[in-house]
Amino acid sequence: AYVIAEPCIGTKDRACVDACPVDCIHPKADEAGGDTAEQLFIDPVECIDCGACVPVCPVSAIYAGDDLPEKWEEFKDKAAAHFGR
Ligand code: SF4
Repeated sequence: AYVIAEPCIGTKDRACVDACPVDCIHPKADEAGGDTAEQLFIDPVECIDCGACVPVCPVSAIYAGDDLPEKWEEFKDKAAAHFGR
């Protein structure tokens, strides 16, 4: 699965939410807690690894899981925890 890393914190542009064909990036603006989460997360089970979210991110926060910089490895766990995976 793809992973959203630190650059999203404080940005939350949400262009990726609109680009994702399977709607697996949360929280959405109208979702409960959507305005309080500090970043967006990709559901690691629902993601189909299409890569459509990567080029639309204005701060280059999204990586294929295998390409995630090691310093941001924790963001895989943060995403899993967000979805209770
Ligand atoms: Fe959605 Fe594709 Fe990005 Fe996965 S890689 S979060 S399916 S746009």
